[in-house]
Amino acid sequence: MIVMKFGGTSVADADALRQAAEIVVERGGEAPVVVVSAMGGATRELLAMGGDAATGNVERAMNSLGSFVGRHLAAADQVDASHAGVTRDEIAALGNELDALLRGIGLLREFGASTRDAVASFGERMSSPLFAAALSATGAACRVMDVRTVMITDDRFGDAQPFESALGFGVESEFLPVLTRGETVVTQGYIGRTREGRPTTMGFEASDYTATLLGAALGAGEVQIWTDVSGMMTADPQVVADARPIAELAFEDAAELALLGAKVLHPRSMAPLRRTGIPARIKNSRAPDDPGTRIVATVESQPGSVTSIALLAGVTTIRVTPSNRDELLLQRVYGEVERVGRTVRLATASPLGVTVIVDGQDVPASVGDRLGLFGRTELDAGASAVSVVGPGVEDASVLGRALATLDGVPVRAVIQGASPHSFSVVVPEAEGRAAVRRLHSVLMDRAT
Ligand code: ADP
Ligand code: MG
Repeated sequence: MIVMKFGGTSVADADALRQAAEIVVERGGEAPVVVVSAMGGATRELLAMGGDAATGNVERAMNSLGSFVGRHLAAADQVDASHAGVTRDEIAALGNELDALLRGIGLLREFGASTRDAVASFGERMSSPLFAAALSATGAACRVMDVRTVMITDDRFGDAQPFESALGFGVESEFLPVLTRGETVVTQGYIGRTREGRPTTMGFEASDYTATLLGAALGAGEVQIWTDVSGMMTADPQVVADARPIAELAFEDAAELALLGAKVLHPRSMAPLRRTGIPARIKNSRAPDDPGTRIVATVESQPGSVTSIALLAGVTTIRVTPSNRDELLLQRVYGEVERVGRTVRLATASPLGVTVIVDGQDVPASVGDRLGLFGRTELDAGASAVSVVGPGVEDASVLGRALATLDGVPVRAVIQGASPHSFSVVVPEAEGRAAVRRLHSVLMDRAT
């Protein structure tokens, strides 16, 4: 049995849904588990509606809700004219629930983390019945299973962690009986619920993580991530036009690339696979015959090879120089970053100071104030981290060539990665994309 995850662009409209359903029928084997993201852009739209309602703009929220539901209803009509009645009713019912929720937010003027998760859950809850309708239209037997019956998480709203033992029991009692009957399970990525039943989400773009968690819990043969590119590539194809797909990657290198900016994979998604040894494959739903990227435990690598150049655009550098000897400084910095819901992507520390690279430009000033108690603290927004990843990075000449390539660019930091397979160069944001292109043309051409 395999798990197949379809991202936002792969379910963006009726055509995409039909194509994805065809992929499941042709390549999913006997009865796969299908994990569905929200329609492209849906999560952001939902959060904007909640934000509008909370600031008293209920009317605007209602207008957005109308077009949001309309887009899903239109897709329902198109994917399957004959079953559309049922799907339409489901979507309309969800629309009514969301309507009530938004009005409640408007009354309370409250849109905290747990309410945000409740609102955000509607993207996946609406796209999953649409996917099932597209699949049923092909004649395939399938059933929508609410992932929240098995994905029980802690209550860190917006970044919840699942309880994996509960997931193991859950899939065995809920999903397996359906699968053994030969029915495909269609379920939602990204969302979960607490033990008490409150809705949670596992972080932006976390559907990949849902898929690998389910794959590990079910002992799947493979987890397939269907997206809009033909695999993990030698660079983001939106930055480097001649980036090429990577045929095979090790779990560790894929996880590192994801953390360093290759957003085609969620950074956490490799952990369940690494633990269980279940391989993954990244595939293009618009070009399903392309081989894609296979991600496995070990890869025969040519010595000296650089796998990919990654870009984390728009990060903030936080640098703290302690006023006194402070062995816990790194921990304090991580704590502060976590408190404001950001992720540390890179870190370097010595007894003389700590530098971390954090997602996003708008890190709250409170982080600087609180860390200022422990030492001189500088927050520098406007930066990008450019990373060189691959087994070849162990060879010091790669670092030398990379820095020579960036001659003339003001380098703010050079940071060794968590493994010997990467290093990152922090540059002004305006230089990030050009730096990736230059590094790609120098390092990737030599590597092949
Ligand atoms: P999905 O909605 O299917 O989850 P994402 O938008 O999350 O898709 O991820 C796919 C995108 O990741 C691609 O369109 C591409 O622009 C971007 N990307 C960034 N770095 C890479 C890389 N190294 N290889 C492939 N894609 C990358
Ligand atoms: Mg994604």
